[in-house]
Amino acid sequence: MPTGVRGRYVRGFAVGLWMLVAATAVAAPDTGGVAENVARPEAGWFRRLAALSGIGRPPPVVALDPGHGGRDPGASAPDGVYEKRWTLELARSLQDCLEGAGVRAELSRTSDHYVSLRDRAAWANRLGADLFVSIHLNAVGDAHSALLEVYRPAPRDPAARGTVVPGPRHWVPLPDLGVLQDRLGRPQRTAASARLADELHRALVGTVGGPGVQDRGVKIAHFMVLRETHMPAVLVEPATLSNPSQAARLHDPQFRRRLVQALCTGVLRYLARR
Ligand SMILES: [Zn+2]
Repeated sequence: MPTGVRGRYVRGFAVGLWMLVAATAVAAPDTGGVAENVARPEAGWFRRLAALSGIGRPPPVVALDPGHGGRDPGASAPDGVYEKRWTLELARSLQDCLEGAGVRAELSRTSDHYVSLRDRAAWANRLGADLFVSIHLNAVGDAHSALLEVYRPAPRDPAARGTVVPGPRHWVPLPDLGVLQDRLGRPQRTAASARLADELHRALVGTVGGPGVQDRGVKIAHFMVLRETHMPAVLVEPATLSNPSQAARLHDPQFRRRLVQALCTGVLRYLARR
């Protein structure tokens, strides 16, 4: 990333986090004169703000995964619109929101083309993302059902059973450092995924929940993109495409904006509290 762009992310994330922290009253220092004090880094509270906001560290990296694409259209709505179109639109808007707060956000696909599930996970791992959010929309047999679901990875990957951890006196071939790091870090990843899922679920309930929407909460799933990614990961299904009124709401830019704002808030709260 060019230095100038990186600087913009760092400053933006600092300001975004500052606003979030101030708004949620996690800390309530004097918010006046931020620009003036940033110009005088010897100020004591500047160092505290810098530590809080991550100034001097690279900006957090969020991997956004718009579900489906290309020859895989996903679910179809009664109005004929496919899931792949909405997931890309929502992911792009979420990218804008996060980047506006100084977070670097990247997409697993930026157009209507097919990307395998394995490639999506491998991409996020290569990116070294701090967290992974896969965006989908639900489809169920009952056209009257409207569900809200958030998924997180299983606490223990069945494939990891029997994994040998190399001790100081035993040399063990390391087939894939990334996989080994993932195995060793899995308890932390599981706990962090649960926190991320809770933040996103909480933000979504207050926005797209309500009468007529069945809140299924946070569930565990063995989806490949959750299983194969090495960082905290979630998959959200914030609306139900098979429900005609829910499908119609997706055409309303105001509704989509609220939905994206909820996802953005959930991610920023997670980042601010990790
Ligand atoms: Zn889907």
